[in-house]
Amino acid sequence: MTNDLFHTEAPATPSLFAEVIIPLALPRTYTYAVPAAWTTQLQVGCRVEVVLGKTKRYAGIVKQLSNEAPPYPTKPIENILDDEPILFPIQLKWWEWISAYYLCTEGDVMAAALPAHFKLSSETQIIFNDAFGDDFSTLDNNEFLVAEALLIRRQLSITEVQQILDLTHVYPVVKRLIDKQVCQVWETLTERYKAKLETMVLLHPQYHTEEKLAELLNEWSRAPKQLDILLSYLHLAKTEGSVSQTNLLKKSGGTLASLKGLVEKKILLTEKRAVDRISTLPLELDLNITLSAAQERALQQLQEQLREKPVCLLHGVTGSGKTQLFIRLIEQYFTAGKQVLYLLPEIALTAQMIRRLQAHFGGHIAIYHSKFSDNERVELWHKVRQGSVRIVLGARSALFLPFQDLGLIVVDEEHDSSFKQQEPAPRYHARDAAIYYARLTGAHVVLGSATPSLESYFHAKRGKYGLVSLLERFGGIELPEIEFINTRHLPSRGKVMISPRLREGMEKAIAAKKQVILFQNRRGYTSYLTCGTCGYIPQCTQCDVTLTFHKQSNKLQCHYCGTSYPKVVTCPACGTVTWKDSNFGTEKIEEYLTKELADMRVARMDVDTVRGKHAHDQLIRQFEQGRIDVLVGTQMVVKGLDFEQVSLVGILDADSMLHFADFRVNERAFQLMEQVSGRAGRKSAQGKVLIQTSYPQHPVLQWVKQHDFVSFFEQEISNRQQYHYPPFTRIIHLLVRHKDRMLTELAAEALADLLRKDLGDRVMGPSIPVIGRVRNQYRMELQIKLPLDSQFIQQAKQLIRNAQALLQAEARFRPVVIIPDVDPV
Ligand code: ADP
Ligand code: ZN
Repeated sequence: MTNDLFHTEAPATPSLFAEVIIPLALPRTYTYAVPAAWTTQLQVGCRVEVVLGKTKRYAGIVKQLSNEAPPYPTKPIENILDDEPILFPIQLKWWEWISAYYLCTEGDVMAAALPAHFKLSSETQIIFNDAFGDDFSTLDNNEFLVAEALLIRRQLSITEVQQILDLTHVYPVVKRLIDKQVCQVWETLTERYKAKLETMVLLHPQYHTEEKLAELLNEWSRAPKQLDILLSYLHLAKTEGSVSQTNLLKKSGGTLASLKGLVEKKILLTEKRAVDRISTLPLELDLNITLSAAQERALQQLQEQLREKPVCLLHGVTGSGKTQLFIRLIEQYFTAGKQVLYLLPEIALTAQMIRRLQAHFGGHIAIYHSKFSDNERVELWHKVRQGSVRIVLGARSALFLPFQDLGLIVVDEEHDSSFKQQEPAPRYHARDAAIYYARLTGAHVVLGSATPSLESYFHAKRGKYGLVSLLERFGGIELPEIEFINTRHLPSRGKVMISPRLREGMEKAIAAKKQVILFQNRRGYTSYLTCGTCGYIPQCTQCDVTLTFHKQSNKLQCHYCGTSYPKVVTCPACGTVTWKDSNFGTEKIEEYLTKELADMRVARMDVDTVRGKHAHDQLIRQFEQGRIDVLVGTQMVVKGLDFEQVSLVGILDADSMLHFADFRVNERAFQLMEQVSGRAGRKSAQGKVLIQTSYPQHPVLQWVKQHDFVSFFEQEISNRQQYHYPPFTRIIHLLVRHKDRMLTELAAEALADLLRKDLGDRVMGPSIPVIGRVRNQYRMELQIKLPLDSQFIQQAKQLIRNAQALLQAEARFRPVVIIPDVDPV
């Protein structure tokens, strides 16, 4: 008798293993077995569903495939989520570098790099996409069940989806629902705003490859009307970039019913989109720019130097026409068939900048930054990967897009510290990460600034980077004239908001139909209130921070944790009711101007007035159109804006920029003041800058007056050398954080002791940082200064990782958070 029936075959030993990155801060990657059925299909760069621990499921990315089993028992991969890799191996290499350099995990990098739709986990919440409507006829059984539940409950976690389907393997279903735009991954951080919607038509993802599309067209047999629509669609997509339903039906003469037919056949998709997000610009180039002789020379030098050195710095004074020059440079890479990335600090990515570039590259230029919806990001992701989008203008996160053939990265305003990500990890510097990425891909990098970072200029001077200087403004206009107003000579003795001289300058400018920008790097009404009797100052209960008074909301606000408190009336310390303002913020200036200079149209630009991207752009547009006379603002008014009619800039409190303890204080102050000054007199005539200060002799102010970056640099770089600061050393900060003060201090001490064993007095601290407590978490800080020896630095980083692990292996220190920050800004 055979016992075949009872014979169970031993499962084949797996022969292929995948190293998978999971978007969490795990200390290492994990290796999973690839089931035999998928061994030929699975590729590096595809997402797979894996189980971590007992039940947690994640969509991870395959980093490597290998025939060798790891030295631990493996779990199998549960599912393959992508037929094709969503990124290239070179990017995974680059992720590895970021995690090693910035002391974080590859999971951290993955979490930052991928749009939310690519990241699924048991905790992922999906929400119904109202634009899909309730016609579920194109969905299969499982999809239908989830869609119906979503329609009723609006939001489901992946775990709930598992319960609904009574299945453990739901990722493929969820992925299909996302692809079909039935649902979206919910991200708390995504800003939601209402905007006018328009129905757009898209090609179904299954036809995104040329072969598939050709096959479809060649084998077309029925429904000639639908074919007409499809052909019109393809034509419009090619010439205009994006296609609205209205436009498609008009151009093709087709009916909505035929279009629906194509949607049902999963050839086309429709989606509602915010109108102002769609670039309906034609795919045309208009590069009719005549460069000035100086620009032409600079462009030639750039090109020559790029042949020798992959990284070049363009130091061009404010208003020298760097943007125009970049446009011509981009054109060359573009016409050579390469992809180009133009990086700007997020806040400088205004409609103004976008318009300036669109005027030349039309629909060829795509925009990528944090205010875009996830659908838009995923779509651009694929287009960049396939190479159908070749110029991207974006903030730092655009660096993570899967460029297929990147030729050039422009880092504009390269000195800007917002290129460094602060929270959460990876705490990477986009400029530096771009330089490394370019090295991997063979792309060129051009850094541009009127006030280069000390680091970049230093490297350029030493010949590590190319250096091109463009030291005259376009049109031969002189840089603005700087005049100091010595506040010590005023009757108010140093404390002044708008001095008589400044007021007079403003009146003159407005009378001449010009505009004025006033800069004060402090928002709110007054930076704090002081009790006039006992000197008590209201503080945040959760942070060691004095509260800023905001008059409009009549609240006291903590600028660190965002908590607001009702205004204090009687002093809790002494019971009196006399309060003194100290200092002034943008809100108080605005109030003063509105009262005192009532005939001027005043507006304020700071994070309180420009919640959401559109408010910012609207203000800029109003100012451009001359509907505002005086713009009062924080740093926001500085970044890369180009206004023609501004003849006067006022810097109200230069002292505040020069007085704080940081080795970069002079650099920051110079950059800020030179950049704000640069907004004056850009087009027709020389502008004027009035700077209020109690110490006009300060060397930084003198260099600003001369617009003399180079002398400033020489002096500052010798200070850095003398005191062993970057770029002559490397700095790593370690922040230790916990809600218990004692424990925080103990942990910081223990960490310092561990590190000192090997690094000696290169370890400084622990010390209490400027703000010793934020959101009820106490903070201690260590600073490590390392010599410029890359091997040594690498070893030191390993020591830091080990010390961190060792410390946290101790039970009492486990809950303490340790945050490394490499090259802090
Ligand atoms: P930067 O970025 O160096 O501060 P911009 O690129 O904003 O300078 O140029 C300053 C102004 O000069 C802008 O209004 C710009 O349109 C104008 N401009 C610069 N170069 C040219 C050019 N070649 N032809 C026409 N206008 C130019
Ligand atoms: Zn606070």
